[in-house]
Amino acid sequence: MNIRRDIILPLTELISGTDIIKQYKLLKGSEYWSRDQIENFQNNKLKELFIHCFKNVVYYQRLFKQYGVDIDSKYMYDEIKKLPILTKKDIIKNYNDLISADYKSRRYTTGATGGSTGEPLKFLFDLKTQSAGWASAFRGFEYVGYNLGDKIYTFSGYSLVKNRKVLSKQFVWERLIMNNYKYSSINVNEEKLFYFYNELVKLNPRIIRGYPSSIYVLAKFIKLHSLKSPKIKCIFSTGEVLLNEYKSLIEEVFNTKVYNGYGAGDGGFNSFECKHQKGMHISEENAYIEIVKNDKVCENNQIGDVIVTSLNNYVFPFIRYKVGDMAYIKDALCDCGRNTKLFGEILGRSGKILYTKQGNPVSPTSLDVIIFKGFNDGDEESVAIYNKIEKFHFEQDNKGDLVIKLKLRENKDFHLFDYLVENFSSVFRESQIKIEFVDEIKAMNSGKEDFITSYFNLYE
Ligand SMILES: [Zn+2]
Repeated sequence: MNIRRDIILPLTELISGTDIIKQYKLLKGSEYWSRDQIENFQNNKLKELFIHCFKNVVYYQRLFKQYGVDIDSKYMYDEIKKLPILTKKDIIKNYNDLISADYKSRRYTTGATGGSTGEPLKFLFDLKTQSAGWASAFRGFEYVGYNLGDKIYTFSGYSLVKNRKVLSKQFVWERLIMNNYKYSSINVNEEKLFYFYNELVKLNPRIIRGYPSSIYVLAKFIKLHSLKSPKIKCIFSTGEVLLNEYKSLIEEVFNTKVYNGYGAGDGGFNSFECKHQKGMHISEENAYIEIVKNDKVCENNQIGDVIVTSLNNYVFPFIRYKVGDMAYIKDALCDCGRNTKLFGEILGRSGKILYTKQGNPVSPTSLDVIIFKGFNDGDEESVAIYNKIEKFHFEQDNKGDLVIKLKLRENKDFHLFDYLVENFSSVFRESQIKIEFVDEIKAMNSGKEDFITSYFNLYE
């Protein structure tokens, strides 16, 4: 018997109102479905969602009428293509109209994605979406040998490592059920890295999970000081692009494989590599994914914007939502027998590390926490600041000084200027910080939506 799975998880579910076990069982049942089965299921779920939106969501009532969407159609894959792409700008502009009229009768919570793609966003999601996300994460972890209850050492920035009060619901959930020990990679230095290393040895976890840039920094530290790594079963990379140079050093130092994962909480989907590592298996039961370029759906292997329709979120439905990353779907299925679509490479959310002048690495995915310090805790000033910025880009020159380019929603704001300089100076001490207000932030030549350009690389 697995105490965490068979006793603690059901009890916690009873208290919290989630239904992870139920969702997990459904997902295990559909793990080896044929393409036809997956597509039939998605078509039916899309139909249910469209009918719900037609009845309850002002924004889609308007859109369905405008674009002639037929909710009685048998082929929702055709209907959905009639709709325009939902951007973050659309969501901010139509926030209230996107909330379902029956939202009070559903258990929901507020979510926020920080600026990891350079564009922050606030939204609502229900417990079913949350449960389905966890259930598919458990299934995905299992592809490579994880068992519920295996000790996890998480090393990353804010999205995975939030400050939890001891004995809060989330704390109990993470510690008791997930057996997850979390360490923040924000503002690390040599001393802290030594502490994190000691914790790693003491805990002796089966799994390491986190941003690749964070795990890379720890691996580099271990190698630099010729320390010994505990025996790790596997490593899960998430939240950023897994750069090859990071992957190979992490695998060398921990003497095990790194498996890539990619998902978006706002889009309600995730994807995981299996042992074959032919691409990331998309949880298609939870979301319908399209790759779109210039308003046209891409062929397989063709790179475009990741567009997602969450099949579970009825409180704040996301239909054809542009996540902000670019990727492609592989033109082949995996050899493991699972017939889901596979993400090939993800472009965007690059894990390029910035450095302080003192030589301490700053994970790029932590930058939004530095900018919008109290945002996730509802701090008013942070929320106001957050609402002003549309997009940002960082440049670090070879001396370690910073240029922060900002595209604003409104006019220039010198209060914002002071706020940012103050927040950045607390981390990038002694760096010159220059803030430029710009009209446009261009993607790089490669088409990557990378929000960091860095010429400053301390260790290489
Ligand atoms: Zn596979």
